Amino acid sequence: MTNCLFCRIVAGEIPANKVYEDNQLIGFWDIAPKAPVHVLLIPKQHVSSLYHMDDSNQGLIQAMIGAAPVLAKQLGLSDGFRLIANTGEACGQTVHHVHFHILGNFTDSGDTGFPA
Ligand code: 5GP
Ligand code: ZN
Repeated sequence: MTNCLFCRIVAGEIPANKVYEDNQLIGFWDIAPKAPVHVLLIPKQHVSSLYHMDDSNQGLIQAMIGAAPVLAKQLGLSDGFRLIANTGEACGQTVHHVHFHILGNFTDSGDTGFPA
């Protein structure tokens, strides 16, 4: 999808500060971090949102969930992290290419950066 921002990041047309890559996924720093650590984990394949994933995407879903603790460990989030998938515009999704937010190292333990 040439008009999709995250597909353009996957293609290297838009730079991103990558922290993770495997054959199916990339992880990179969010451009407007909501916590001291805020990275996005996305599939290389375009899928609009988690809502649009089904049985045919089971392998990809498993890969995304499986990569989250790998990234969390790599990023030093031993105190914990939040894994968020805003799904649909009504629920805060602004980029229509499925992604997980991985957030951590909140300076104020009461401020988790997103509504619960
Ligand atoms: P959403 O609101 O769809 O759940 O999350 C989209 C995220 O993408 C936002 O946190 C936003 O800051 C981030 N974002 C938007 N444009 C860019 C960009 O060009 N580069 C990076 N690294 N992140 C972006
Ligand atoms: Zn895309």
